Amino acid sequence: MKFPDAVSPLQKLEGPLLDEKEVSLYIKRDDLIHPEVQGNKWRKLKYNLADAEKLGHKTLLTFGGYYSNHIYATAAAANKFGFSCIGVIRGERPEALSSTLLFAIEKGMQLHFVNRSEYKQKDTDPFIESLHQQFGDFYLIPEGGTNNFALKGVAEIMDELPTDFDFICSAAGTGGTLAGLVAGLKGKAQAIGFSSLRGDDTLTGRVNELVKEYSGKSFQNYAVNFDYHFGGYAKATPELIQFIKVFRQQFDIPLDPVYTGKMFFGSFDLIQQGYFPKGSKIIALHTGGLQGWSGFNELEINPAG
Ligand SMILES: *Cc1c(COP(=O)(O)O)cnc(C)c1O
Repeated sequence: MKFPDAVSPLQKLEGPLLDEKEVSLYIKRDDLIHPEVQGNKWRKLKYNLADAEKLGHKTLLTFGGYYSNHIYATAAAANKFGFSCIGVIRGERPEALSSTLLFAIEKGMQLHFVNRSEYKQKDTDPFIESLHQQFGDFYLIPEGGTNNFALKGVAEIMDELPTDFDFICSAAGTGGTLAGLVAGLKGKAQAIGFSSLRGDDTLTGRVNELVKEYSGKSFQNYAVNFDYHFGGYAKATPELIQFIKVFRQQFDIPLDPVYTGKMFFGSFDLIQQGYFPKGSKIIALHTGGLQGWSGFNELEINPAG
């Protein structure tokens, strides 16, 4: 199995605020890893796919919602590396499929819709057994791709970064990416995860559990920030959309409205507030997710709502 092994670029951002606050800010462009298998989704899938192949599985099965970046990336990666693939989708089959799900079908993913109460059972043995009865053998990748293999893939980012930075910022959903960063840091520097979900106060503890399960160790050098969810998952405000527009004009870098837009908004706001000591070297991880715009536009999310 051949994985893209090109190292994603690290770019320095320049601007008056950064000068004024005397901090340096770099962006790790994981959005450029692959047009379809982007960012943290690639990092998280990589060793799962390698394990599936090693164990001789021909089929992958995973879980997600109508607009899931993980479903999108898994469908594309399965296609690229010659696996069959099943997506267990949360909710009844809608009349009009989202462009994320249409893309998944185009890549050969078989969609299996389950209602929300069934979906809640997805990690239980009886539910997984029923999936095996229906679909035969498969390699199971959990929702969002978060497991020990995901942490291993994310932790590898450290091999691609300079060693002298002070902070690394990332968007957080399930917390798998943040946990991978914490595992990779091994106690040095500080990781900040910006939660895209509202009021998910279990996240901080969950990251600790994930890191412990992966490395057998606990680390204190991370924090989850809950101040920039903009109303919650897949919600936005005109202020956030405006920020993403200006960011693109200023740096020529696209951000997505679900994750990376919020993380960068939060990072700049913390810089403005003087959160980072003078002389800090900050790395912000662009986790990709640019396909998220399609669902955002289809939903015609009222940016005021
Ligand atoms: C899925 C996703 C995240 C969240 O990653 P977790 O590991 O679930 O915390 C962050 N950014 C982007 C762009 C994503 O697609």
